[in-house]
Amino acid sequence: MSGMTPRMPPRRRSQLARALKDDGLDALLVSSIVHVTYLAGFTGSSALLLLMARGRSVLISDGRYEQQIAQECDDGLDVHIRPHDKTVQQAAAEVIGKAGVRTLGFESQHLTVADLEALSAALPGVAWAPQQGRVEALRMIKDAAEVEHIRVAIRAAERAYEMFRATLRPGDTELELADALEGYLRRAGARSAAFPPIVAVGERAALPHAQPGATAVAEAGWLLLDWGASAPWYKSDLTRVLRLPGDGRPRRVESKLEKLYTVVLTAQARAIAAVRPGVPAKKVDAAARSYLTAAGYGEQFSHGLGHGIGLQVHEGPAVRANSDDVLRAGMVFTIEPGVYLPGFGGVRIEDDVLVTPDGCEVLTRAAKDWPATELPG
Ligand code: ZN
Ligand code: ZN
Repeated sequence: MSGMTPRMPPRRRSQLARALKDDGLDALLVSSIVHVTYLAGFTGSSALLLLMARGRSVLISDGRYEQQIAQECDDGLDVHIRPHDKTVQQAAAEVIGKAGVRTLGFESQHLTVADLEALSAALPGVAWAPQQGRVEALRMIKDAAEVEHIRVAIRAAERAYEMFRATLRPGDTELELADALEGYLRRAGARSAAFPPIVAVGERAALPHAQPGATAVAEAGWLLLDWGASAPWYKSDLTRVLRLPGDGRPRRVESKLEKLYTVVLTAQARAIAAVRPGVPAKKVDAAARSYLTAAGYGEQFSHGLGHGIGLQVHEGPAVRANSDDVLRAGMVFTIEPGVYLPGFGGVRIEDDVLVTPDGCEVLTRAAKDWPATELPG
């Protein structure tokens, strides 16, 4: 497992340290645990990182994690293990005080007001400077190790999907299928599902975030599946539509579904073709949205086109109409146009793409042409 943890945290820390220095900060108190993982390689669930603009940064954690830190973190970090009779805030205040920090950045989107009050009361000489999105901005551009981790998460999701297709029976309910898929994901090498899978049969697919329930596949004969793997820490996120073979569905339903599917697939292809460095993310959204609008489905495409994936299943960049993000090589995000028709159902097709220096690479490979939506009979 340790071979799969992020391997390049020292370079990420030095990049951030330079930026802190330029902004006149002595250090940044990193309190988002995802950011601690990103910058220190530590994957436990409780730690703070005092990232110094100059000198050695300090990971502050507790006795439960001493061994894990020794296995996961590089030698460039100092480690402060908090004694069991001290609070996290007391330990942090001690480390910050000892480091001689005078101007300290903190993650205002991740540090609670109560923690800030406790820390600033304990450190009256420190000026606290709220910071937003600093680590998020770094995380948007994936390094080679991260892209490899995402590829592993995609392959696990796709292997699980093959098992799902091979074992699905018409009598299976959404809940049974969602449950089975989580097992397939682990069998395929994932640590877990990246999020609770969405299995929505027929009409229920008109709800973009349907909760799996007691509906059996045979009740409509087709379903929407939205799933991903965490393998172990980086995520994948895909959506496919599947049909039972044969003529269970009325011809009218079958042809409406095929038409809808083809329109969404074409919208997705247009968006993928628009991806390259320098393009505003909202233009990629517009490439799909303008096509769906012209086809009469503008109102029924009720969400943004996509989102970044990485250590979290939703992160930057935002690929939607109101996004200010501009695409850069190394970004990885989903492209997932969808059309939702209450009373009929919904079609969404979701793939994961990497922005390359001259365009993009579609990282996901699960087949998605119309014949491929049919299950083996
Ligand atoms: Zn998804
Ligand atoms: Zn998604």
